Amino acid sequence: SLTIGIVGLPNVGKSTMFNALTRNNVLAENYPFATIEPNTGIVPLPDDRLAVLAKLVHTEKIVPATVTFVDIAGIVKGASEGEGLGNKFLANIREADAICEVVRAFEDDDIVHVNGRIDPADDIDTINTELILADLQTIENALPKLEKDLRGRKIEPAYLDAVKQAKEILESGETLDKAAREGRFDKDSVYDLHLMTAKPFIYVFNVDDDELQNADLRKRLAGSVAPAPSVFLNAQFEADLTELDEADAREMLEDAGLKESGLDQLARVGFDILGLQTFLTAGEKEVRAWQIHKGYTAPQAAGVIHTDFEKGFIKADIVSYDDFVAADGSMATIKEEGKLRQEGRDYVMQDGDIVEFKFNV
Ligand code: GDP
Repeated sequence: SLTIGIVGLPNVGKSTMFNALTRNNVLAENYPFATIEPNTGIVPLPDDRLAVLAKLVHTEKIVPATVTFVDIAGIVKGASEGEGLGNKFLANIREADAICEVVRAFEDDDIVHVNGRIDPADDIDTINTELILADLQTIENALPKLEKDLRGRKIEPAYLDAVKQAKEILESGETLDKAAREGRFDKDSVYDLHLMTAKPFIYVFNVDDDELQNADLRKRLAGSVAPAPSVFLNAQFEADLTELDEADAREMLEDAGLKESGLDQLARVGFDILGLQTFLTAGEKEVRAWQIHKGYTAPQAAGVIHTDFEKGFIKADIVSYDDFVAADGSMATIKEEGKLRQEGRDYVMQDGDIVEFKFNV
């Protein structure tokens, strides 16, 4: 499955956050592998709709979609030069599908900052510079062969142009993700180089708990990384939340003026930047959110449940979540009101689709 690699300077709260993420892990039963890899955490994608559906169809069993985070051990200046830990660090990032960069914005004189002062922009610059340098190295290594391939007409000139454009962006100190988000670069054009800064980035700002509601601070920090998404949380607060039962956790969130935990937000944003979405099934046995890539057609979505469903696909009976709830889950009412849609092979799945696939065996 797709993974999000957590990176950041030492002492910014990565382990605190990662441990909270994995302690949040209510899925150990369904996902036994969640506990196998110590640096991997599989967390549920928060989705309030599932409990509503479970009530309507009278089942206790809810299976949420999941998001997988991998804790990638400490980056240091010079990592791109590939010494020791640096090498392993880069290899781990290459394996991840998205990058979650944890940035320290909390003040605490007892906790040493590696660069001696709290400066989120400077920290981001330190990390991104290492990734940019590593990508430039990849491109430098690839160029001689690409020039040769062009002469031998094994590649298109447009491909070499795209690689050179990537090189220019990186040399200007920018990530390819940023350039792509601003519409100045097509990531897909250099896909096969597996460049690290072409992966989607999320920034997590670990702020003091009394600053969680500080709109000016949020605006300033978010602005420094826009258009990449950012999440604000206090790692220690999140860790404390996971120690509480649901009612107490809700109260603690309300007291802090928050609607949802930072980790829930992170799971949601992470799922989205991985290019994933869900569709729903609601049967007597279970209510479930299935994860698919954005843009999947009905047969492709069916294939996620079972390969036979894709091969033998006939059609999908779909009702949207809002219509299902409005009808109190009564299929009779849904049909009467013409809210049951029959979709064919070309249908592109939409968020909130509750589906029953019809197929030949
Ligand atoms: P890592 O090196 O990035 O994994 O950082 P850790 O999670 O180990 O945190 C480093 C130190 O900072 C630990 O002593 C944590 O208890 C502390 N810490 C983590 N998050 C916060 C926070 O939000 N506020 C404060 N004051 N301390 C924190």
